[in-house]
Amino acid sequence: MANNEPKKGGILRAYLNVNVLYKILIGLVIGAVAGIILAAKGVTALPAWISMFGTIFTRLLKMIIIPIIVGSLVVGASSVSPANVGRVGIRVVIIYLATSACGVIIGLVMGNIFQPHAELAAVTQLAADAAGKTASTNVWEVIYSIVPTSVLQSLVNETVLQVIFFSLVFGLCLSFMKVSEDERIRTISTTMYNVFDCLAEIMMKIVAGIMQYAPIGVAVLICEVFAKNGAKVAGALLTVTIACFLGYLIHIVAVYGGLLAIFRIKLGAFFKEARTPFITAFVTRSSNGTLPTTFAAAENLGVDKEVYAFSLPLGATINMDGTAIYQGVCAFFLVMSTQGRGLTMGEMGMIVLLATLASIGTAGVPGAGAIMLAMVMQGIDLPIEAGTTLAGAYAMILGIDAILDMGRTALNVTGDLTCTCCIAKKLGFLKADSVLK
Ligand code: ASP
Repeated sequence: MANNEPKKGGILRAYLNVNVLYKILIGLVIGAVAGIILAAKGVTALPAWISMFGTIFTRLLKMIIIPIIVGSLVVGASSVSPANVGRVGIRVVIIYLATSACGVIIGLVMGNIFQPHAELAAVTQLAADAAGKTASTNVWEVIYSIVPTSVLQSLVNETVLQVIFFSLVFGLCLSFMKVSEDERIRTISTTMYNVFDCLAEIMMKIVAGIMQYAPIGVAVLICEVFAKNGAKVAGALLTVTIACFLGYLIHIVAVYGGLLAIFRIKLGAFFKEARTPFITAFVTRSSNGTLPTTFAAAENLGVDKEVYAFSLPLGATINMDGTAIYQGVCAFFLVMSTQGRGLTMGEMGMIVLLATLASIGTAGVPGAGAIMLAMVMQGIDLPIEAGTTLAGAYAMILGIDAILDMGRTALNVTGDLTCTCCIAKKLGFLKADSVLK
């Protein structure tokens, strides 16, 4: 007995010790190779008991969407102190949201130009029904429908935008209550904050657990895709990768270059300092994990600590331009591959809104953008349900998520630094002459 136990633990520990990024890539390769072999043998479907492992994975992803939005958004919104919501806060939030919206638009443009898609077999009934539903959506209705009439109903029906709206309102009220002069209000609101903080932490733990399971789920889902469609889908993933990275590059040059020029900050001096956080983010795939180097870069650029100590952690949570570009390209890929059509104008508008708002509620940790993508698809009435073509297409994206995540995290962090410098410059909090034109 005593001899057997460490051995079992050893295998599990060895598995857990391997970087999730490599495991998912290995899962992708194993699934793809197995699928191609099956396709060559004329086997187009997996036995139900194997298919179940993929189904479990998609169900796990769906399971966490709503609690993760509620937990992280309430905590995010209530962490902003009312004193900072004024002069600096509002400007920082506006520039963060505006650049994220530009990111989604660039992503959608890339999607339209590259038209990344895989010719996947069989559009499921569910997806076809959903396509009918989205076509009838009217823009004004989309806007006023953000305000829920019943919060419980929004939670039960998983209406993403309504849940985001209510969580933000709830969190903002909580942030004011936490600094109330009335001790009773301060105490109960701090308790409430702790409950949501705990919920958000639990969700992050669950996400970490799901990511450990992801290689198995991805392998099975990818195997199904390749068995059904053969090797021809690999080119589509390459197109998605090229479209995303080109989008990242355009965003750096056009949006960040443009902002720095408008605010008269020297590009060379800025990018010299931004290089370290850029590389750190690329390697760690976490905006939060990169914060110490982003702080150092802001300090070296001469930004006042009062501004960057508030704006950079906020940016690591709410400003995700790279993630926004990725959402645009991937949403295009998912719809085109499963519905046999591009995105409608209504859907694109909805994706800009959803991806921008969803970035507020997503922590800067590896792989968070992929969960957001599931949220965005739910928001355009194309939920990633087990057993659908959409789940297979989503698994394809997830298989290359690590590569896409490196680029988008590097961009997310550069965006936080760019916006911070611009706002600091505007409000007179940027001192170093070396970066000022
Ligand atoms: N990894 C990204 C970040 O930390 C989030 C994402 O997955 O898009 O900013």
